[in-house]
Amino acid sequence: MIDSSDLDFDRRHLWHPYTSLADPLPVYAVESANGYRLKLADGRELVDGMSSWWCAIHGYNVPELNRAATDQLAKMSHVMFGGLTHEPAIELGRRLVEITPDGLERVFLADSGSVSVEVAMKMAVQYQHARGRSRTTFLTLRGGYHGDTTGPMSVCDPVTGMHQLFTGFLPKHEFYDRPPGGYDAPVATAYLAGLKAFFATHADRAAAFIVEPVVQGAGGMHFYNPAYLRVFRELCDRHGLLLIYDEIATGFGRTGKLFAGGDAGAIPDIMTVGKALTGGYLTLAATLCTGEVADTIGRGEAGVMMHGPTFMANPLACAVAVASIDLLLREDWQARIHRISRGLSLHLRPAARSAAVKEVRVLGAIGVVETRDAVDVAKFQAFCVERGVWIRPFGRLIYLMPPYVISDDALELLCTTVVKYVLALQPENDP
Ligand code: PLP
Repeated sequence: MIDSSDLDFDRRHLWHPYTSLADPLPVYAVESANGYRLKLADGRELVDGMSSWWCAIHGYNVPELNRAATDQLAKMSHVMFGGLTHEPAIELGRRLVEITPDGLERVFLADSGSVSVEVAMKMAVQYQHARGRSRTTFLTLRGGYHGDTTGPMSVCDPVTGMHQLFTGFLPKHEFYDRPPGGYDAPVATAYLAGLKAFFATHADRAAAFIVEPVVQGAGGMHFYNPAYLRVFRELCDRHGLLLIYDEIATGFGRTGKLFAGGDAGAIPDIMTVGKALTGGYLTLAATLCTGEVADTIGRGEAGVMMHGPTFMANPLACAVAVASIDLLLREDWQARIHRISRGLSLHLRPAARSAAVKEVRVLGAIGVVETRDAVDVAKFQAFCVERGVWIRPFGRLIYLMPPYVISDDALELLCTTVVKYVLALQPENDP
């Protein structure tokens, strides 16, 4: 049982994501998690609004996933993938080839989302190199987020990714504005003209264009019309760039489609998935590419894909991922996403009445309340925990992405808590 000395140790010695050890934010100790609830060490239960950052789509302590993990544990938790292979990797590979957009048929199993983006970028550079082109720059959109290791960070939004701080360390790539907001917003012709000019200026040095399709997540929870993906595809084809979709956050149903870019009629050359891949149980990601990309790399100078992490295709993680995909596809996941979407739209709507709120937007099982000023994370979380919910805002964004198994009542509680907070968020009425 965690006591105050344990929490004191945590505060002094353990870094949490994006925090300072000189002035750490408060943390809450979790003892266990079940379904859509987290149980704190002090006995309080919280409805989870975050799916542990897009991962725990089936909730926690899921019998099917537990069984897959324990069955696999009894066989082997890990063996190297160099020169060896195993059923969990093969089964996972089969499923990924089957459920991702047509043409994506070669699979690299990586150990985290960021690593899978590193692999995608290296694939693109190796592909261009094998075609006799020295193209090492990446084109991308402002407001993107692709992970925290060096390659992905260099294509994250330059401001929120703090490129200034890392000048000289990060490679320099080229950024263009993200498409105007709104899933249903008409395609903006002025935007397209600018994008075409951007490609014309930089394409001859560029290996690939990397984007999060339809939803930019950690870079601002920004939704845009899938029709832009077709333009991205056309421009990449015209200028000889590969198109990379980073579906690490959006994959496995979250936006209402199995993959956000999946049916927009614009298939990428390379695609990354992660997060919900194992239902949030273990760290695993994958980089898929077309046969053309893989075969071209094979004909290149190296003759091989130059990446091979120690924990590549970890059998335990692969076995859980297979079980998670099977569970998702066995259930009527689309009906679940629609139900959550309706609940989010209905119950978050009153937040728009607050003068402190800039916009409320919902897509699939993602609900966003964008405030005018940065949210005080510690104050907001204390407010939520008192009311039995777990939500972690960042910047001016309070967002919900609950496990797909959440009940209607629990979803309503998440939303009404957010609404209460923002309605009270007036200068004279600070919650
Ligand atoms: N790409 C996207 C779109 C993400 O949202 C994230 C994580 O939030 C990543 C990449 C990095 O994944 P990981 O944190 O597993 O390295």
